[in-house]
Amino acid sequence: MGPGLVRPQGQASGVFARLMLVVSVVAGLAHTGFIFLFQHVGVPVLALANVASVLIYVLAAILIRRGRVNTATLLVATEVLVHGVVATAMIGWDAGFHHYIVLTLPFALVSAYYRISVRLALAVAVGLGYMGLDYLYRQAEPSVVVPAPLLSSLHYINLANMLAIMGVLASTYHRLVRGSERRLHELACTDPLTQLRNRRFMMEVAQHEAAVFERGGRPLSVLLGDVDHFKRINDHHGHAVGDAVLRAIARVLREGVREVDHVARWGGEEFLVLLPGTELDEAQQVADRLRAAVLALVEVEGRRELGLSITLGLAELRSGESIEQALMRADRALYEGKQAGRNRVVLAGQD
Ligand code: GH3
Ligand code: MG
Ligand code: MG
Repeated sequence: MGPGLVRPQGQASGVFARLMLVVSVVAGLAHTGFIFLFQHVGVPVLALANVASVLIYVLAAILIRRGRVNTATLLVATEVLVHGVVATAMIGWDAGFHHYIVLTLPFALVSAYYRISVRLALAVAVGLGYMGLDYLYRQAEPSVVVPAPLLSSLHYINLANMLAIMGVLASTYHRLVRGSERRLHELACTDPLTQLRNRRFMMEVAQHEAAVFERGGRPLSVLLGDVDHFKRINDHHGHAVGDAVLRAIARVLREGVREVDHVARWGGEEFLVLLPGTELDEAQQVADRLRAAVLALVEVEGRRELGLSITLGLAELRSGESIEQALMRADRALYEGKQAGRNRVVLAGQD
């Protein structure tokens, strides 16, 4: 990579690439309009110039699709700047082709490919260049005199185009940023191995469900499960099989409960299940079903006789009790289950 360039991180480069694609398509369509306009009013040179511009935008879109976003950005920026300066110099300031130059400023600033110092320098250069163009051409006589009605049309078409592109840019960027925010949130809440909810997210859900219960809402039961002798699986079959077993058990647990129940990977080979609206009796049946389903898991990735089982501790949240206390009771019950020989469900005591 050259000086000033940075390798953009996944999300940022994805957002920027999609933004550039939208810009290339919008600008390509706008320039196609100009081809017909200049052909119609009998200025074939300018129509031809716009054919070249459309080809540049098609090339830019192809480059973006092939992942060469940086090259495409440079190409588009050059087209916009050259087109803006040449058209302003030829037809005059009033035609409004200089508006497009302004659009390169936000792009220089949001580009994911340059260091902040380079981006700021580009933005300042665009700003100063634009002011220089204003100084040179705002009151100068244009070299190509176009009829007043055409000049007026161009002025408003360019103004409207610039505003429309600005609007598209702003809304696309907003939508893409919101989308990546959602994906980041999803990632922050998900355990990468099992795709279950992670401990941090589950604690938030548990606090929320406990608050609902405390306000006189539905009951809440918690199930804490720990895979039995899991270390042996790793030792005998390797870590990769261990990981596959965790994924398989995660699937069994997720599929064994209702949509409204929550299943999380609580730790290494520990899982937490929250059963809102479920009292102890019913929760015990659920826990037994889950235990049996894990026991029935005889084959994982072609490996048989892994001897999988799970021990579960079960507690129902009591009035005046914190969720942490209920989890501690479930944890003690789980420990009792391990002591008693594993592969069982143990109901938590009252303390
Ligand atoms: P117990 O029946 O008493 O629970 O015995 P155990 O062997 O399941 O318990 P122990 O706590 O001794 O071992 C848990 C093992 O889980 C040790 C650790 O290396 C393994 N482990 C934790 N996280 C992962 C993981 O993400 N992948 C794999 N493959 N193994 C993991
Ligand atoms: Mg454990
Ligand atoms: Mg274990």
